[in-house]
Amino acid sequence: MYERYQLVLHSRQFEDIRRSFLNGRAAHAYIIEGPAGAGKRTLSKLASALIVCREKRACLDCPDCRRALLGVHPDVHLYSSEKRISVKDMRGLIEQSALKPYEADYGVYIVENAHTATAEAQNCLLKTLEEPPGDSIFMLLALNAGQLLPTVRSRCRLVRMTGFSDELIFRQLQALYPGEEKCRQAAQMAGGNIGRGVALIEKRELWELAALAERLCAEADSLSAAQAAEMLRGAKDKMDELLPLLEERLIRAGDVKSLARLGYVEDAVRRLEENVNPALALDGLAYYFTKGDSKWQKL
Ligand SMILES: [Zn+2]
Repeated sequence: MYERYQLVLHSRQFEDIRRSFLNGRAAHAYIIEGPAGAGKRTLSKLASALIVCREKRACLDCPDCRRALLGVHPDVHLYSSEKRISVKDMRGLIEQSALKPYEADYGVYIVENAHTATAEAQNCLLKTLEEPPGDSIFMLLALNAGQLLPTVRSRCRLVRMTGFSDELIFRQLQALYPGEEKCRQAAQMAGGNIGRGVALIEKRELWELAALAERLCAEADSLSAAQAAEMLRGAKDKMDELLPLLEERLIRAGDVKSLARLGYVEDAVRRLEENVNPALALDGLAYYFTKGDSKWQKL
């Protein structure tokens, strides 16, 4: 059951939270920021286990830790919504947080997609953060903390879920998929994102796109524009997934030519967002991608 927690359990981010609790310096509100798949929810679950653990250490073994991880502890509340978080949702949460915890010393309130909360909802939360109930701890999960009001941000401790090395991702994947041959390569292609590493192993289509990104980058100097265009066109309905993979691969390479190519990939992303004809955008990308510039020039 615990294999999937290993990466985050041993992360600097969790260690910081753990130490702050042990030293009595815990914050009453945290923002856990990071892209999808970065481990935000896992961190919030482990932190909630730490908070309610009867051993006071996230032993992951006592009934409190187990219930927290399973999402059934009466003092761990997870708010998750497909829609934007409205002021009504937020009021419900705040009313609940005013109640005493049932069993633990604190009630934990985890808000997923907190960055989608309306300004009104955030202002509502702000009042609680200004005068927090002493026995509630909030964890706001956000893709980008910049989308939260500065007044909310300033009252929370920010935890960024980034910076996992390929090696750490590899070890986590190995623990999850013992004997799986793709683990090493998936870790390299995951760009430090465990969710993507898992998806690469589980989703054949994503694996093939990553392999395509890998080939485009590795062979960019020898491919003709026509060859690159053909490769790109083969995945033209999957650009949402392919282009980020290309970007990550180029950032990882980090040499001047790769960074110039990165500029052209970003141009293509922008042009597709602006509804430029996809075939045109991809042909343009193929042309500049294979041209071998050492400096990106704005189109
Ligand atoms: Zn425990």
